[in-house]
Amino acid sequence: MESLLEELFVRRRRRQRQGLARGLDATAEGIDFCSNDYLGFAADAATARALWKRWEGWKGSPHAAPASRLLRGTTTAHLQLESRLARFKGASAALLFATGYQANLGLLTALLGPEDRAISDALNHASLIDGLRLSGCRKVIVPHLDLEAIEAALAAPHPTGRTFLVTESLFSMDGDTAPLERYAELVERHSALLIVDDAHATGLYGARGSGLVEASGVEERTLAVSSTFGKALGLFGGMVSGPRAVIDHLIDHARSFVFTTAPPPLLLAGVDLALDRVAAEPELRQRVGELSEQLRRALVDRGLARPLGRGPIVPVLLGDTERALQVAAAVSRRGFDVRAVRPPTVATGTSRLRVSVHASHSKAQIDRLAEAIGDAMKEAGLLVGPLAAPIGEACRAAGGAP
Ligand code: PMP
Repeated sequence: MESLLEELFVRRRRRQRQGLARGLDATAEGIDFCSNDYLGFAADAATARALWKRWEGWKGSPHAAPASRLLRGTTTAHLQLESRLARFKGASAALLFATGYQANLGLLTALLGPEDRAISDALNHASLIDGLRLSGCRKVIVPHLDLEAIEAALAAPHPTGRTFLVTESLFSMDGDTAPLERYAELVERHSALLIVDDAHATGLYGARGSGLVEASGVEERTLAVSSTFGKALGLFGGMVSGPRAVIDHLIDHARSFVFTTAPPPLLLAGVDLALDRVAAEPELRQRVGELSEQLRRALVDRGLARPLGRGPIVPVLLGDTERALQVAAAVSRRGFDVRAVRPPTVATGTSRLRVSVHASHSKAQIDRLAEAIGDAMKEAGLLVGPLAAPIGEACRAAGGAP
C-alpha cells in the first residue's frame, strides 16, 4: 500500500505543477455564471417553497423508494412522471435513470454490442464515450460537427452489425449545436440509427421547451434521446425517451437502470414542478437566448473573437491552462463566478472560460461580465482580438474530448 500511496502523491504533485489538480471547494462566490441552472430554477427561492408545499400535500406514495425499480422501487409517481416525460419529449415512452451519466451508460451498453459500429462526434460527452467503450462496439470518431466525415463513415460498409450515429445536441463545452435534421436524413439514407444526448438543450428549445430534438422536428426519426434534470430543470437525475420497444429493452437490459435504487419521489415532485414551469413560462427560454446573444456581442465589442455556438453556453477560448486559470481568477475578483475548464474535460491546448447564461441574470450583469472578462484578459497581458481567433481555430483543430 505504501508504494501506491507514494506514487499517487507524486502524481498529484505533478498535476498541481501543471495546474491540473482539482479541489473540492464549497465557497462559491460571485454571481453564478458557472452552473447549468439556465432557467434560474435552482437559485429561485419561490420554486423551493413551491416544491416544499407540493411535498406537504404529497399523498399516496412513500417519501422514498429504497429499492430497485424492478423490485419495490416503482411507485405510481414514477410511472406518471415517465408518461409526462414521454409526452414532453414527443416520444412514446420514457424511463428515469439516477443521472444523465447513467442514462447514457445504460442506453449505449444495452443497445450496442461488439458487432455494431458507432459514429461518434469527437467532442461528445464523457458519458457517451464511456457508454460506447463499455458496449464493446467499433468506434469511428469523427471531427466535431464534420458532415462530410460523418457521411463518409456512414457510407463505409459494416456488414457485421448496425451503425449508430451518436451525438450531443447542444455541445456542453463549445456551446454549438448539431444539425439534427441533416443527421436524420443521413442516417435514413444509410440505414443507420440516430442517438441524441439532449442534456443541455432540455428545457430551452422547442415549442414545449423539451430540447433540440423537438425544435429540429426529429423526434420520430431518432432511436433514443437522453436528457438530464441537472441542467435547465435545476435538479438532478436523468432519463431516456424513445419508442416503447427501446424503453422496454432498457428496462430488461440497461444495467445502470436495473442495478440501482429508484429515484426518490421527492425528486420526482421537483421534476414535475420544473416541467410545470417550463410549460407555463416560455418567456424564460426566450430570455436565455437573448441574454446569451447580448453577451456574445458584448465580448466582440470588447475585442474578443465571437465565442463559438449559440445559446447559453458561451466559451471564451484561451488555449493554455495557466492562462485560463489566471483569467478566471481575475474575473472572479470582479464579482463573477466563472470557472476555467481545462484538460481532461477539454482537449489539451483548448482551456477556456465556460460562461453559462441564466434567465435570471440582468442585462446590466451581462454587460458588467463582458467588461470584467475584457479587463481580466488585458490584465493577464493578452492581446485581445487578434489572439482569440487563432486560438479558436487551434481548438477546433485539436478536437477530441476525453
Ligand atoms: N450529457 C452531457 C452532454 C452532459 O454535459 C452531462 C453532464 N455534464 C451529462 C450527460 C450527464 O448528466 P448528469 O449530470 O445528469 O449525470
